[in-house]
Amino acid sequence: MSETRNVVIIGSGCSGHTAALYAARANLKPLVVEGHEPGGQLSLTTMVENFPGFPEGILGPQLVENMRKQAERFGAEYRTAHLTSADLGQRPFLLHLGKHQVHAQALIIASGASARWLGLPHEQQLIGHGVSSCATCDGFFFSGKEIVVVGGGDSAMEEATFLTRFASKVTIIHRRDEFRASKIMLERARGNPKIDFLTDTVVEDVYDVHKKEVTAVKLSSVKTGKTWDFPTSALFLGIGHVPNAKMFEGQLDTDADGYLKTRNYVFTRVHGVYACGDVQDRRYRQAITAAGTGCMAAMEAEKFLEEHGK
Ligand code: NAP
Repeated sequence: MSETRNVVIIGSGCSGHTAALYAARANLKPLVVEGHEPGGQLSLTTMVENFPGFPEGILGPQLVENMRKQAERFGAEYRTAHLTSADLGQRPFLLHLGKHQVHAQALIIASGASARWLGLPHEQQLIGHGVSSCATCDGFFFSGKEIVVVGGGDSAMEEATFLTRFASKVTIIHRRDEFRASKIMLERARGNPKIDFLTDTVVEDVYDVHKKEVTAVKLSSVKTGKTWDFPTSALFLGIGHVPNAKMFEGQLDTDADGYLKTRNYVFTRVHGVYACGDVQDRRYRQAITAAGTGCMAAMEAEKFLEEHGK
């Protein structure tokens, strides 16, 4: 089955929803392909305190749900599917959503970024058994237990602080002794009596695959090279994200880390294809900036369709 749409938006995080809202209000009846992680990173977070308009903060999942409802009110259509491959060589662009094909007169890529893993020998085997990248999803399972969080940015601080709701103790392990995290988030974690810090330390492996649960991590000191086992019931990762742009490899320009390259904020090198949000932003990566570029992408798509015909 095949269909042709004015605008297809890949991804349903903050940038995708905002692009959908603007495209819908321009009467373009956008199709939003939800992707593997509907709602994007906001759906995995807790309280969002820096999105303007919510003086008391708002829960991330609630914020994205509101955005979606707002876009749907103006005619955006959401589809539970993900993009498997795309042919941007001719217009309308051909998009494969599994077995289903969609032709798009204009394409907005808002596919975001997904959690980065450490690449430990036994990490993948223990995902879902104590290894996690989502504190809000999995923290509940570790009530009264000791937990390790890896990372030195805002994500790690946020995860660690959130996990103290359940855990008896949280140890943040960071490979340096300086932190990328914002001052306010770092101070909040430092002031939490349940949180300890282990700096200049890296995780080398996680045990125990045979028991199908996390029992300890193998640590190593960056300064001395000393290694030791550190007992823990869970390993949470807060070490940043990888852009979801692989399906455009060879067709759009990416930087060395795989982020889509754009000029004038949202233009890719293919006319009629725009990129917004975390898939193209390695610098700001905020909900509000993702929403901003989502808006820009939709406005540019609208202009493009006006000039080149729907
Ligand atoms: P980030 O700022 O890139 O921090 C990633 C952290 O993980 C860094 O400390 C990095 O160490 C460490 N790391 C990366 N790869 C590693 C590896 N292989 N082994 C060990 N450590 C590794 O990512 P983020 O914390 O996810 O934050 C991303 C963006 O989202 C930021 O702009 C942040 O402000 C924003 N954010 C905001 C909030 C909020 O305001 N509520 C919450 C979460 C995130 P190095 O420092 O040594 O490189």
